[in-house]
Formats: sequence, structure tokens, C-alpha cells
Amino acid sequence: MSYIEPAPLKDRENPFEAMMSRFHIASQLLGLDDEIYNVLKNPAKQVIVSIPITMDDGSIKVFEGYRVIHSNILGPSKGGIRFDPGVHLDEVKALAAWMTWKCAVVDIPYGGAKGGIRCNPREMSSGEIERLTRAYTTALHEIFGPDRDIPAPDMGTGPREMAWLMDTFSRSQGMTVNSVVTGKPLVLGGSLGRTEATGRGVMVSALAAMERLKINPYRATCAVQGFGNVGSWAATLLAERGVKVVAVSDISGAYYNENGLDVKEIIEYRNNNNNSLEGFPNAEALDGEEILYLNVDVLVPAATEDVITKANAQRIKAKLIVEGANGPTSSKADSIIADNGVVVVPDILANAGGVTVSYFEWVQNRLGYKWTEERVNRRSDRIMKDAFEKVYNTALDYKVPMRIAAYVVAIDKVAKTYKFRGGF
Ligand code: GLU
Repeated sequence: MSYIEPAPLKDRENPFEAMMSRFHIASQLLGLDDEIYNVLKNPAKQVIVSIPITMDDGSIKVFEGYRVIHSNILGPSKGGIRFDPGVHLDEVKALAAWMTWKCAVVDIPYGGAKGGIRCNPREMSSGEIERLTRAYTTALHEIFGPDRDIPAPDMGTGPREMAWLMDTFSRSQGMTVNSVVTGKPLVLGGSLGRTEATGRGVMVSALAAMERLKINPYRATCAVQGFGNVGSWAATLLAERGVKVVAVSDISGAYYNENGLDVKEIIEYRNNNNNSLEGFPNAEALDGEEILYLNVDVLVPAATEDVITKANAQRIKAKLIVEGANGPTSSKADSIIADNGVVVVPDILANAGGVTVSYFEWVQNRLGYKWTEERVNRRSDRIMKDAFEKVYNTALDYKVPMRIAAYVVAIDKVAKTYKFRGGF
């Protein structure tokens, strides 16, 4: 029997502490009561499950899985499930809290949660991943539910895993419950526009920020770090709006062309190359990290946490950072970036398009009805634009960076709701 040990957080900043330091600043600006501060600083529920799985070679491996519900003050908790070797309880706690703030920023009626399993899906067969997903769902079937806690995809998971989750949960209830999870395949009640939703929201918030900063998109250059679902859609949609995407990257490295890359060509290359950009021909290959330091107008970190840190923040030349990933900037880098005049559209705003369309998917499932793609996009664009304006104006009012302003908007909403609901 083998057991996957938790990966040490190494010299990464602890993501929960990174979240807390911004939460603390925003709470002080709002003059938040101690009572509410203490309610919001701790997750409402943390579940750790141990999941034994029979691997294809007959051996049994035990995986550790998590589901953290940070808050259900605004409604049922919402948030993705991550399959990654780096999954760690403190990371899941931070990601769960970020979901609370994200849902509050875009004003949808959800609390925040996150789940994860420490595993390496790249090294597992689809049968092994299916058994793991079904066993995890079974272990958590009392936590999940359309009015309790609603999972979705995150790093390492997608529609396929959501279908297994929906099916396993439905079996436990003796009926089909498609609204228990979002990000499902279309035929199972997934929503049109959900796959591209996070990248689309990144595009909408990037354009809104460019308008404020008077950057003409037709003359702007952009680098996108990470070429998974979020990065590839953000690059595609920004290019469609006239922005010149000069660099993209994945774990194999960065690919740069000062005349602009053909994003469609890169996606096709990746799809035919085992999901990797390795060897992409029409660009100069750079070390992966170099993408962060290019002389571009817009930088979109769309990979993972803690890539912009106090050790490298000084080297960033972009005028605008639009955070497609959750937590890509460590809290210690915030002040360096702000001092250098770089504007950051923070994760809890910039990448909220995904959960917004997840909300639409849940609404459609509950109505037993399907919206057109046009309706989904129109409504999510409007929500993203309104949220951007609200955060931008709050930043001007409080004279703080947009990140702190986004926390102010979110915490204020959750705190006001808590006041009405009250506690025991
Ligand atoms: N995992 C995505 C996020 O971090 C989506 C969550 C959802 O749709 O519930 O925002």
C-alpha cells in the first residue's frame, strides 16, 4: 500500500496567510466588527477524507482528499475541485475563501468552497481517475448538494470528472440531480459558454481596465502565462479583440514572437502534441519564467498560485496585470507592484467569469431549461463589467489598489448579510 505524502509548501508563501493579509487590510478599512472578522477568518467546515483506490496494476494507493467550506452566508457554497500533486489543506482553505470573496464581488448568491485531491492525474489512467472521482464523491455525498455545496472544475479536472461526480451523487440519492455540480458536459445539462467563461471574463476585465488606463487594445501587446483552459481562452478572446498576443507559456517553457502569435495555430499545435507547447515552431523558445518579465502592456498570469513574489515583482514591466489564476501574486509582492505603478485586476474579480456562468448553469438546471450562448455571454459580460466598475470606483474612493478594493466590496457584502442572518 502506498501513500502520497503532502508536498511541503517549501518557500512558497502560505496561500492562506496571503489571503488573510489582504482580508485584514480590507477589514480595517471597513472598520469591520471583531465578531464578523472572527466568523470570516475561519472556514465554516473542513473535511479531510482518505480514499483507497485499486490502481490498474492491482496495487492499492491511498489518496488524501479535501473539501473546505469557507462560508455559506450568501447561499450554498460553490467552488471547484483540484487534482494536483501540490494540493495542501492550507491551499484549499485559501482557495475556498477566495471563492467566498469572488461570488460576493460578482454578486451571485453563493458562499465559497474548494476541494482537492493530492494526486498526479497526468500519470493516472482514465479508469484510475474515474474510480478516484467516484470514491471522493461517495465520501462527500453528505456535504454536496444543489442547495448545500456545489462543486465545479478546477486545475486537473474538467467536464469528464464533473459527469462522474454528477452520476455518483445521483446514484446516492436515487434520482438524477444535475444541479449538484457545474462545468458538466453539455449533454448532461452543462451550459453553453461555460468552457470559455473564465477566459472570457479575463478578456472583459482586461478591456475594461485598458479603457480606464487609456491603452488602445489595437496597439497593445499581451503575454499569457499558462495555457490551460483559462490561458488559452483568454489569449484567443483577447486576440479576437485586437490585442497582439506576443507570448504564451506552459510547463515546457515560454514561446515568444514580437510580431504576435497566431493563437489558433498554437491551440491546434497543443492539441496534436499531447497537450504540450513543447517544440512550437513559429516562436522563440524562452525559459518559462521569462514570460513574466517581457516588455508588454498586459500580463495575464493564468497558471497557478504564487508566481509573482517579492523576489521577482521588481522585474515586471507590464503596465497591467489581469489575474486569470487564483492567487498568482503573493501578498508580499503587492506593495512592490503598486509602488511601480502597475495596475492589477485581482483574481477574485478577473477570473470570476467562470463561477458566474456556473451560476447560470445551476439556474438553467433548476429551471429545466437551456439558454442560448448569446444570452449566457451577454449576461456574464454585463456582470463582469458591473463588478469591474464597482471595484474600480471603490479603489478610487478608498485610494487603494483594486485588489484591496475587491476585498472591501466582497467583505462588506458578506458582513452585511451576516448581520441580518445573525448567529446563535
Ligand atoms: N474553479 C473555478 C474558480 O476557481 C470555478 C468555480 C466554479 O465554477 O464553481 O473560480
